[in-house]
Amino acid sequence: MAGRGLVVIHVDGLGADSLEQALREGDMPFTKSLMETEGYEVHRYQCGIPSTTPFVQAGILYGDNSEIPSFRWWDREQQLLVQFGAGSTFKKVAGKYFQGCHPLTQDGAAIAVCYPAGAAETFGIAYQDRRYSGQEEGSRSAWRVVLPYLANPLNLLDLVWHGLDSIAQTVRAYSRDRLSGRIAAGTYAVTDVLEEMFVHHVTRHAVTRAMREGYSPIYAGFYAFDETGHAFGPNDPYAMRILRHVDDTIRKIARARQDRYELVVLSDHGQIDTVPFSRISRVAFGELVAGWLPGYRVQEMKGKAFGPSKERATGRVNITNSGGLSHLYFADRAKRLTYSELTAQFPGLAANIAAIDGVALVMARDGDSDVFLIGGQELRGDAIKPALAPYDDPDILLRQLSRLNSFHMSGDLVVFGAFKEGRQVNFENQAGGHGSIGGEQAHPFVLAKRAWGLDTSAVQGAHELHPILSRLRDSLRMAGK
Ligand SMILES: [Zn+2]
Repeated sequence: MAGRGLVVIHVDGLGADSLEQALREGDMPFTKSLMETEGYEVHRYQCGIPSTTPFVQAGILYGDNSEIPSFRWWDREQQLLVQFGAGSTFKKVAGKYFQGCHPLTQDGAAIAVCYPAGAAETFGIAYQDRRYSGQEEGSRSAWRVVLPYLANPLNLLDLVWHGLDSIAQTVRAYSRDRLSGRIAAGTYAVTDVLEEMFVHHVTRHAVTRAMREGYSPIYAGFYAFDETGHAFGPNDPYAMRILRHVDDTIRKIARARQDRYELVVLSDHGQIDTVPFSRISRVAFGELVAGWLPGYRVQEMKGKAFGPSKERATGRVNITNSGGLSHLYFADRAKRLTYSELTAQFPGLAANIAAIDGVALVMARDGDSDVFLIGGQELRGDAIKPALAPYDDPDILLRQLSRLNSFHMSGDLVVFGAFKEGRQVNFENQAGGHGSIGGEQAHPFVLAKRAWGLDTSAVQGAHELHPILSRLRDSLRMAGK
């Protein structure tokens, strides 16, 4: 390897404000020392809408995240629920994506990421099933990384120690929240433990191994903070404890750089405190929709179905919820409905949904124009701007929303949760969330050396970060030649 290699650590779900708070309060001492001794600085950027990992990571890795409308969505052409994480089905639609792109990690190593991203080595660790792009030759299954990791007694000791510690911590945080009447979704608490004690450590092991083997660039995703934020809220003391583990991981990877690699730490989106829709409404979101669509079977894709049975239903609606964002699809259709078609066939439906307590905004598409339903009004294009001001810079936010609304994969209606008592209404049962608009969720960061002169101030979508990081990769590679 000539010049210097690039290692990118992706810390999932850590917003720029939370990073700066953690630095101030001493929760990330090593990261702070990077700033003080190596001239690192925090570059803020805007990830775009939806503020969710598959959208942002596609933008960073490929420079193209169009047609990724959420963490999960309904593919009308293939009549398929596309989702990531355990049971990822993205591989079934992957052929439609990233044609002609130049991936950031071309010929490098992609570790625990959503996509193979042109990497020569994709260490298959959690988060996704990586075997889909015809690159099976080069990719290692999880066990090929996990077994050598476990064969080292020091790794085992580290794992057991951190594992026991994080189980104890999680149980403590979970029971405390239960006692105080807060939720914290049980499944998330369990994922936390597994995530923290296993995947995190194995991912770190894979990074140092890829460095030893000389791969560049190396891009690795660490998801423990995001998982903890979902379970307990991003500002929970336990989430701050997890940040210390993340900081420790940054330290260990930074130490392994020697003078062969340079390090960038970035996040994909932030998180905000949320209140589940089920807490503010006795009637489920899907059940409300079913009430306005007699004869239709309404399926919340990660939840219950409402209305008549499959056999007796005259039509199907699929709802895909991701954090504070929900897409609603008339599932029998091969194409997205225009707003005119929708209102002709189902008058009042969009307005009824917009009027739900807990819903802030409903978005639809009419030809080339964006239609918004908010506060009993139907607004088109720029007329929505004043209503967007409480969420973010209205000019930028409108552009971001309009881009999401241009995707064929978006729902016939796109629904955004409201803010209640300083917390966002979330369509999933989580204490912290993202994917929607407002607050820190759309404001992540890149931590990079000042000397590299990165300018992310104009980045209003993660796909605009791709050329900046690609240029850095190339200039490091050329350095010293
Ligand atoms: Zn998340």
